[in-house]
Parts: sequence; C-alpha cells; structure tokens
Amino acid sequence: MLSVQEAETIIFNLVQVLDPRKDVEKVDISSALGRILAEPVIGNLDFPHWDNSAMDGYAVRWEDVEQARDDKPVDLEIIGEIPAGYPPKLRLQPGEAARIFTGAVMPDDADTVVMQEVTRREENRVWIQAAPSKCQAFVRKQGAYYQAGQELLPAGIVIQGTEIAILAALQVKSISVYRKLKVAIFSTGDELVTVGQTLQPGQIVDSNQNAIASLLKQLGVEVVILGIVPDQAGDLEVAVKNAISSDIVISSGGVSVGEYDYVEDVLTSLGAKVHVESVAMKPGKPLTVATLKNLQNQQVLYFGLPGNPVSALVTFWRFVQPMIKKLSGLSDGWQPIFIKAKARQELRCDGKRESYVWGKLRLVDGFYEFDVAGGSQVSGNLINLAQTNGLAVLNCGQTLISPGELLKVLLVQNIC
Ligand code: AMP
Ligand code: MG
Repeated sequence: MLSVQEAETIIFNLVQVLDPRKDVEKVDISSALGRILAEPVIGNLDFPHWDNSAMDGYAVRWEDVEQARDDKPVDLEIIGEIPAGYPPKLRLQPGEAARIFTGAVMPDDADTVVMQEVTRREENRVWIQAAPSKCQAFVRKQGAYYQAGQELLPAGIVIQGTEIAILAALQVKSISVYRKLKVAIFSTGDELVTVGQTLQPGQIVDSNQNAIASLLKQLGVEVVILGIVPDQAGDLEVAVKNAISSDIVISSGGVSVGEYDYVEDVLTSLGAKVHVESVAMKPGKPLTVATLKNLQNQQVLYFGLPGNPVSALVTFWRFVQPMIKKLSGLSDGWQPIFIKAKARQELRCDGKRESYVWGKLRLVDGFYEFDVAGGSQVSGNLINLAQTNGLAVLNCGQTLISPGELLKVLLVQNIC
C-alpha cells in the first residue's frame, strides 16, 4: 500500500494530456473568464498610450515652478484647457500653464503637473503655491507600466476579471486558451438507481455521480455522464471502452477486494497500466489509478474511486481535483492547498493511516478555525458532509488533536 505522499507523487507526474500546440482554441475575451491561457499574450500598445496627467490641475514647465513656495507663489498665464479625451492643441512657452484634467494628454513642452489643491486661480492666471516634488510629478509617462512587444500575460494562468481588464485595455480582442478537458464519469454497482427512481429493497441512489459531476463542473471541464454500470465484468468493459474517448475517466465503486469489484481486472484486461491500487489513508484506502490508450492511441487517465460516498469525495479532493487543474493547463496553483487552523473540538483517530476528518473552515478575526462535522465520521455517512470545505489531516501515528491546537486542513471548497 502506498503512502499518501507516494501516491500523490505518482499521480501528479502521470500524463500531460493537453498539448500546448494542438489542444488550443481562440476565444473572444468576453467569454474567456475562467479559461487557461495557452500561450503568452504580447500586446502592441504602450500603456499608458500617451503621456497624461494623473491629477486635475495645471500642466507646467518644471523650471517655471521649482522655486514656488506658499509665501512666494509663482504666477503663470493659463493659455488653454485640456479635458480628457481631446488631444492638446497648444504648446507651453516659459511662464505659461494649461488647465488639465485627470487622464488628459500632456501638451508639448510641459513636463510636470501641479495639483489643483496647491494653486489659486484668477481668470486666466494661476498662482502656484508649492513646488511639485520633482520634474515629471503627476505625469503618467507613455509606456511607464507596459511597453508594446513585451510579454503582457504568461501562459498557464487563469483568466479572471483583472486579466480581462488588461486585455481589453490593450485592445487584445481574442486569446488562445486550452480546450476544456473532457471527463467521462460513471458509477458501478447493482444496488444503484438514479435520483427519482423508486427504490426496491436493497437499492440506494447513485449520489456519487451527482457529486462528482458537480465538482467537475466547478473545475470548468466538460463532463460526459455515462450513468450506472452493473457489477458485471462485460458491462464494465463496454463502459470503459466507451469512456476512454474522453481525456480522463472517473468511476466510483468496484475497486475494493470483494467478489464484485471488477474495475482493476477489467482495466488490466484492456491493457491498462495500474499505477495505484490502494493508499494508506482513511477514508479512501481502495483507489485505482491507471493509464490506458484509446483508439486514437492517446493516453487516458483513469481514476477508480471507492464507492463509499465520503471516500469517493475525499479521494477526489485529495488527488483528482489538483490533477485536473494541472492537466487543464495551469502552470502553478494547481497543487492541494493546506491551511493551518485552530481546532475547535478534539480530533481522534487510530493513527494507523493518514486520516482525513471533514468539517468547516471559518475565518474568525482573520484567523482560521476548524469545526469537525458532528455525527459519525465514517465513510458511508454522506449526510454530515453538508457544508464541508476542509479536511483536517492527521498524519500516520497521530491519534489526538486537542481543542485549540493548530492543525493542517486541506481546503476543498471556497470558504464563505
Ligand atoms: P464499493 O466500493 O462498490 O464496494 O461500494 C462501497 C459502498 O459504497 C457500498 O455501500 C455501496 O453501496 C456504496 N456506493 C457505491 N457506489 C455508490 C454510489 N455511486 N453512490 C452512493 N453510494 C455508493
Ligand atoms: Mg460496488
């Protein structure tokens, strides 16, 4: 059995399904939110585009105003007004100033702006009552923040509101992003029915498929739902062959050691290479991770998650979620996020395997605290997973964490 660390190293290094040269599409920036940039963006405009004023005030020549003081103001003639959006049609001579507004283009021969607050105006004359801090004060120079031809945004980042603002400002109307990963999911088990179907004795609803589909949608991938597959090797084989036209396959159930647990056998019979069979963690011990080739000779990654609802989600959050972020093209920030938080209750486990205790991370006065979900912490108890956003991690050998102690929590959903 692999340790969590060993399993993580194996899984995170398995395959690179998206090719930055081929698996790319162009999208308009209006629909780029949440997509991952596949190639660096190079802008062809300077930013700012022109020397412009950072203040409402007066455009002046530094040498005219550098001696200005409250008790010895400098008197200049106002020769015109430059509102934002209009190119200046004037040029300053010694002793002259132009009224200027924030964002307006600097006139020729003016090099400094004096803010309105340190001036006094009378008709077409202005008294400068304090010298600006330096020549160029309050002037936003052309290209000061970005110069055309440099890298504007690197590949591998998620496009968010800030990036869209930058692209818009630089007139970049469309960008190359990675295509969405296609992830096929199915559940295995003769006992499973779909939501709404009448339950016969012994049956349960396939909640895993609903959970996994939702978590995948949150990750921005294309989800292919293949339904419920009976506990028959033949049916499972058909399902796997069907599923591997996607980039990644996630099944749940059928990965334990019982007579009806066919997943690993079927994968092996289809020529898959099994990299992980079980992991020393609780919940989530039975976990199959394999790679196999599809008809197009492409490598497909297969995650066979345990059937128990909590085990399925814990293994998804611990291994699948970061891996999908990585395979989607993210160059950084895909790794699991662990947060230090103060335990609000006692946490106990047998210390035999790395244990994951589910609950809720909260921010209290700027510090994280962790509340253990009440009720049974067992892998079949789906009900007390409600509002879970963190999994407290107890290392092998660690059996007790007392209230008030700091613990390590895997962040699995947003804290709200
Ligand atoms: P398995 O891993 O197939 O042995 O299943 C372990 C436990 O999880 C059994 O109690 C199953 O009934 C339950 N289970 C398996 N698949 C699902 C599913 N898709 N949704 C909810 N529970 C499931
Ligand atoms: Mg089963």
